[in-house]
Amino acid sequence: MTRQEKEAFKKSIEEQIEALSRELALIEKALYPEKGEGPSDKVAHLNFKLDQSIQIQRHREATKRLNRLKEAYLRIDRPDYGLCRECEEPIPIERLKLMPESLYCVDCMNELGL
Ligand SMILES: [Zn+2]
Repeated sequence: MTRQEKEAFKKSIEEQIEALSRELALIEKALYPEKGEGPSDKVAHLNFKLDQSIQIQRHREATKRLNRLKEAYLRIDRPDYGLCRECEEPIPIERLKLMPESLYCVDCMNELGL
């Protein structure tokens, strides 16, 4: 991976981290409404509870991804970034573009059952 490619990746990871942080803030706002903004009646309350469990799930997924991205961001300057941890071959750049936090190539991931 060239210096330029790494810089492009850094930028892309930064953007994804920012987007996820914004999403998390929105989910948190939905999960913990301010006083007076909460459900007004029983039906609204039930819907709120249902929605809440979906939001909690989304929040969990987004937090996991955010942590993986932050971790990838710290790894990007290391010479082994973008190399598969199993076979040590370079992970295809297209895959890294979609998932910069990838630790394995697709073949190894399938083989490891990840
Ligand atoms: Zn591999």
